Amino acid sequence: MGELLLSGGRLVSASEEFEADLLIREGRIAAVGRDLESAGEVKDVSGLLVMPGGIDTHVHLEHPIDRIGIETADDFFSGSVAAACGGTTTLVDFALQRKGDDLAPVVEARRALANDKSVIDFGLHVILTDIREETPAQMREVIDEGFTSFKIYMTYADKYVDDASLLRILETNADAGGLTYLHCENDCAVSHLIHSHLSRGETEARFHAPSRPPVVEAEATYRAIALAEITGARICIAHVTSKRALENIERARYEGAQVVSETCPQYLTLTDACYSHADEAAKYVCTPPIRSMDNQEALWDGLRRGSIQQVASDHAPFGFKDQKLGAPDFTKIPNGVPGVETRLSLLYTRGVASGVLSRSRFVQLVSTNPAKMFGLYPQKGSLAIGADADLVVFDPTQEAEIRHTDLHHNVDYTPYEGMPLQGVPVMTFSRGELVSEDGDLVKDAGPLKGRGEFVVRRPVPPELDFSALF
Ligand SMILES: [Zn+2]
Repeated sequence: MGELLLSGGRLVSASEEFEADLLIREGRIAAVGRDLESAGEVKDVSGLLVMPGGIDTHVHLEHPIDRIGIETADDFFSGSVAAACGGTTTLVDFALQRKGDDLAPVVEARRALANDKSVIDFGLHVILTDIREETPAQMREVIDEGFTSFKIYMTYADKYVDDASLLRILETNADAGGLTYLHCENDCAVSHLIHSHLSRGETEARFHAPSRPPVVEAEATYRAIALAEITGARICIAHVTSKRALENIERARYEGAQVVSETCPQYLTLTDACYSHADEAAKYVCTPPIRSMDNQEALWDGLRRGSIQQVASDHAPFGFKDQKLGAPDFTKIPNGVPGVETRLSLLYTRGVASGVLSRSRFVQLVSTNPAKMFGLYPQKGSLAIGADADLVVFDPTQEAEIRHTDLHHNVDYTPYEGMPLQGVPVMTFSRGELVSEDGDLVKDAGPLKGRGEFVVRRPVPPELDFSALF
């Protein structure tokens, strides 16, 4: 691969924006400045924004849902194609440890699966579900291999980790530099509430939401922060959806707690009114559920104030007609919504175009902060010389409308159908190679399949102060 010059664009990083050319050589950023010259290809990007490509650390591709015996509908190919078409250049998916599994074979199998299919670079978190005597040593082993973050579910019968086990994980990560990434809900409370609804015959999809109210999330969030403090571990709270949970995070960060947090586009753009149409409600069944407008407003405040550090998709696609509809009760509806392709344009539209967030704040939330938190920085999430030329070129003036038929995921709907957009990705470069243009793949899918590489992530650097990361 030779040289490529992006000429005349407006570069937007996590800290500044300015007009400059950007020169790519051998897949990396080689120079940034005015009037650069190149013997290679030149692309005129005047009037467009050049930003670090999106990093989505929360996606579930061909993810097994053992309790209902199905998988998410996108595999590493279709999911990574959708990501690339939406301006994302790195995914971090999950390797699931089932009861009795050792970690090394689990991560190896998952890496091989993704490696054959992904069109963009990827990393993998390890989902820990079975904490045994040998687990801490096995965690250190996989951290050395570049699997530096561990997802813990404080709920779901098949994945649930109790507090005693969580403490051991946190203690190990505090010492080894691993990051604990938590799904926070009080499992006993959820089970109790589900039982109450079902025993009253309240089985429809809309009862998913009151079975997992904000207090359930807030309690577990507080507990996770407390246990982290006890062990000195750094944590990331996945998919914050409620004002109460966010208040716990803000208070702790103010006191110096090493906690960062994430929210997702579905919680920033939808409200619980989506559950009021009986025949559509299943489309929006995700966990935690979509909340009220009050909660949505609190999340936007959190993004503005810096108490939420990243916006990830939690892309968990299930077909509406063939997987979500027709479940005998709401607990049998697979949890999740598709969103890997629409994340950047939705956040840009609702955040930047509406005047709530600066462009640099946008870059922080979708790219630079995730890179820092999850051990990808500065190889990814940066416009610095020497960084991978993972870039998204954005047209901030282009207006569009989200339509399922334009998207590349392998399901039959989008929860954002008909939503207007202002600002869309027009080019996506992965290590200097143009993979997507105008919302579509650049060439036949064949040659791109499997070109994505596994990224060896690093432990969280000790000097990175989570409480000061905005
Ligand atoms: Zn998830």
